[in-house]
Amino acid sequence: ATAAAPSGAAVSAAVSAAPAVVGADAPVPLEDGRRVPYANLDYAASAPCLSAVQEAITSALPYYSSVHRGAGYASQVTTAAYEKARETVRDFLGAWRRASVVFTRNTTDAMNLLAHCVPSGTTVVVFETEHHATLLPWRRAVRLPAPSSPAEAVAAADRALAEAPGGPRLLVVTAASNVTGEVWPLAELSAVAHRHGARIAVDAAQLVPHRPLDMTALGLDYVAFSGHKLYAPFGAGVLAGRSDWLRAADPYLKGGGASASVEDHGNRALWHADPESRHEAGTPNVLGVIALAAACETLAATGWTPLVEREERLLARLRSGLARIPGVRELTLWEDGSPRVGIVSFVVDGWEARDLALALSGQYGIGVRDGKFCAHPFVRHLLGASDATGGTCSDGQSSAVRASFGVGTTEAHIDRLIDAVARLARER
Ligand code: PLP
Repeated sequence: ATAAAPSGAAVSAAVSAAPAVVGADAPVPLEDGRRVPYANLDYAASAPCLSAVQEAITSALPYYSSVHRGAGYASQVTTAAYEKARETVRDFLGAWRRASVVFTRNTTDAMNLLAHCVPSGTTVVVFETEHHATLLPWRRAVRLPAPSSPAEAVAAADRALAEAPGGPRLLVVTAASNVTGEVWPLAELSAVAHRHGARIAVDAAQLVPHRPLDMTALGLDYVAFSGHKLYAPFGAGVLAGRSDWLRAADPYLKGGGASASVEDHGNRALWHADPESRHEAGTPNVLGVIALAAACETLAATGWTPLVEREERLLARLRSGLARIPGVRELTLWEDGSPRVGIVSFVVDGWEARDLALALSGQYGIGVRDGKFCAHPFVRHLLGASDATGGTCSDGQSSAVRASFGVGTTEAHIDRLIDAVARLARER
């Protein structure tokens, strides 16, 4: 008999409160030798692993094997778990039954896979506000400047798609910004794309850890995301969406798994037609995929309403706390009132972002990110900096600090950050 995938036993049956994360409040050393509980406010870079994900990995390990290769029991179990993970991801994204779900390494890999599969002559429309993973892979792209409002984003996409030459068109947008946390108007952008006969691809790396996404209801043709931002370990991601372009393209990688048969001493290969086999050559990241699916199951089982309410409370607390500190400026693109996820970038008068981030870590045990967050054009725009000045704005800032959080974050973590920034701001 074919082995069944392990039941979801490892994924706690009914998760009520925010799911637990591994290593929350682990002690970290300060410069003065004291140890304090870590305040991890760097979830947007990589979120900590959920405890349920850790359990799912542990229970998969005894039957750890390659997939689609062997007849042994372990290979059957692992193959079943791997294929079940596709169904879990399909459900998690609200994708239609025949949507392709291709496992990749991460969002960058997923966007590059899509770029590889886009038919030649396709005009890609993309905003300069994107993460580099989503800004850079395209051969022929129209790049739109940062829109001044969600409505302007829709209008700009509308104009660009109307002016695009004949042939296929693809609008590529973020679901939630990794710099400002602002959520983009996906339903409207999707409607505009389809009105022009274009497709829409969405970088959901920063949305899916925070909000539900329904590809079918929103009419999204493609969605990409990374497991390591969704409370699973590194190295597994997803490209989900329409099959035809993926089916028609050459395999992303050529090798075992993608080839159905190889003839003529290796001079001729027949490739699998189904996008999943075609674009997943080589032994996949089986454990990463099982972990990613466990994260999807756990978030779905928790229910989004309490998670979103909790996050919005923490976000309001963080933003109002920072706003009260003299010399702190939050970076935002749009007026208040547009929906946001738990990501806040800011600069502090007199502080280089790197020095501030190091002080938060070394003096307070708080982890944040500094820099331009792989979104150089966008951060320069928000800082009011230009290439002409070497990317430095009038008050000397060339990068920012980003605090980001999720299910393991408490009010105490947020208050520690506000308190520490207030103290550091006073020192300058
Ligand atoms: N897109 C967004 C919005 C991101 O925040 C990131 C990561 O920071 C990426 C894409 C790239 O993700 P990965 O490094 O996992 O490929």
